[in-house]
Amino acid sequence: MHVHYPQTDIIGAPADGLLPWLENYTFPAETRFAQPAYAAEVANVFFSELLRHGVTTALAFATTHPASVDAFFQGAQKRGLRMISGKVLQDRHSPDGLRDETEQSLIDSETLIQRWHGQGRLGYAITPRFAPTSTDAQLRGAGELAARNPDTWIHSHVAENRDEVRWVRELFPQARSYVDVYRGFGLLRERAVYAHCIHLDDADRALMRDTGAVAAVSPTSNLFLGSGFFDYEGAERIGMRHGLASDVGGGTSFSPFHTMLAAYYVGREGQTKPGLSLAPSRLWWHHTGGAARALGLQGVIGTLQAGTEADFVLLNPKATPLLARKTERAQNLEELLFALIVLGDDRVVDQVCIA
Ligand SMILES: [Zn+2]
Repeated sequence: MHVHYPQTDIIGAPADGLLPWLENYTFPAETRFAQPAYAAEVANVFFSELLRHGVTTALAFATTHPASVDAFFQGAQKRGLRMISGKVLQDRHSPDGLRDETEQSLIDSETLIQRWHGQGRLGYAITPRFAPTSTDAQLRGAGELAARNPDTWIHSHVAENRDEVRWVRELFPQARSYVDVYRGFGLLRERAVYAHCIHLDDADRALMRDTGAVAAVSPTSNLFLGSGFFDYEGAERIGMRHGLASDVGGGTSFSPFHTMLAAYYVGREGQTKPGLSLAPSRLWWHHTGGAARALGLQGVIGTLQAGTEADFVLLNPKATPLLARKTERAQNLEELLFALIVLGDDRVVDQVCIA
């Protein structure tokens, strides 16, 4: 539900936290995506890596450069994949080579929607990086674009890190909260996907629920950058829809198995009521049918029901000696699914079928 294809090569970059990680690794890496050939090469590696791990659809950030979006969609089209992406909007607090120009950024987004949205299996996401790196004018323009194109996606980040939340409060003093900033610009609606959603209160969760916006939970990233813990109990109690995401390169793995295990740790640690034990079937749901539903793609992908598109993986529960012993002893489906979460990785993915 949330990943950055241009960050494929900065996976595992050490940093003190989100803001220094962006400044020292992410922004310099992303400036290179102005070059179409470079973008195409990384997109190719990204798709190969997703498929190796059994991931058939992703909602992915590109960079601010329109060329990065073209490269992504061309690669996805060649492989017949159902993919969603969009040009990143960031017209302030960003380095040269990455910062875009307000008016041109909105024109470019509109052009890319015309070119790619609904072409075969491709979908466009209007993608403000996060509130601090867009001016009010750019966020307002993004909201207007989203209203004119109601079946496009909106893709951004919210409430990942405490320093970031403080910064947003300084920049947008009129808003009740960080989530409320996006509401004010018309950026909360069905098909609006917000990564992280960690430092929220119940009013924020209710606002997400009532507008149809959803959370992309990114546990390996949150643990890696020390951002905090997603509150599963709070999300469930209020009814805020959510699903799982790798968030590479802040996330540490393309593997859904690693992501589900990290989510399980987060369930254990990070709750208002501690010690939650997330059911294995629920974690799998958040990577398959539940994620599809949160993306507004129910009935299209995410289940094996008749009439849906046949994207599926064939898994080998005996892929390693320990997994073979463990899964042989599984008494029920939950035990089998949990063994795969704890011990599984790309070796389990035997075949990937697309469409
Ligand atoms: Zn992210």
